[in-house]
Amino acid sequence: MKRTIGFVAAFLSAVLLGSLAHAQSGKPGIEKLYILNCGEGVAGDISRWSPGVNEGKSMDFVDNCYLIKHSQGWFLWDTGIPDAVAGMQKGLVPADPKAVTWHRSQTLAGQLGQLGVKPSDIKAMAISHTHPDPIGNVEMFPKAMLYVQKAEYDWPGADNAPRFKPEHPVTKLEGDRDVFGDGSVTIVSTPGHTPGHQSLLVKLPKTGAVLLSGDAVHFKANWDARGVPGGNFDKEKTSTSMTHMADLMAKDKAQLWINHDKPQSETMKHAPDFYQ
Ligand SMILES: [Zn+2]
Repeated sequence: MKRTIGFVAAFLSAVLLGSLAHAQSGKPGIEKLYILNCGEGVAGDISRWSPGVNEGKSMDFVDNCYLIKHSQGWFLWDTGIPDAVAGMQKGLVPADPKAVTWHRSQTLAGQLGQLGVKPSDIKAMAISHTHPDPIGNVEMFPKAMLYVQKAEYDWPGADNAPRFKPEHPVTKLEGDRDVFGDGSVTIVSTPGHTPGHQSLLVKLPKTGAVLLSGDAVHFKANWDARGVPGGNFDKEKTSTSMTHMADLMAKDKAQLWINHDKPQSETMKHAPDFYQ
């Protein structure tokens, strides 16, 4: 009997050690999150984003993209200002001088290359919305499944132009989506800035939960005051989305990473460094 118990104990500990070793080598979920430099800009007049506040004041913006290495594959959130802007001396100059003039000191392709990632390695991607700053390089990944809200996809562009190439593989969402089915990466519908704007809730094993804002909010002062930019598609929906984000953050004890907020971005780790 003793011998049998000893054998069972040895067998169980072998199984346990085996599963621990497996957990250390091929743990499911997110392995790394990289912040990529996807543009640097200067806003002509920041009252454009917070009507009546700071009129005539200029402000520096950043534009980040986020690359996630999940055990099921690479996932890219936003694609930034077009890489071609890196070759433009004056940058991407907006029609409205109050808007943002964008520059690119580094390309997305170059940063992926430094990490040893080929564009074809990225099988899935999502964009927060279809303004020029998050969608500039979508077609660098012509085969990647694109997750976008149906309301955004169907929103007619200038001269009724489609927002995306019709041949680009797409999953049109009508609400939230758990991308990998394990709760680690969730697209959260946050309409208002545009008809189908979305944010991304990422649950990192060590860092904890992080909510990537997209343009649901542009900088911290606007978040604190729940300020809505004058040019937003739907002011009321923006306010509702901000309340929803605050609720999600409270529930998951999530940090808010505000995409265009330069002071916050400067405190963070950028590629090739990463979060886990
Ligand atoms: Zn925008």
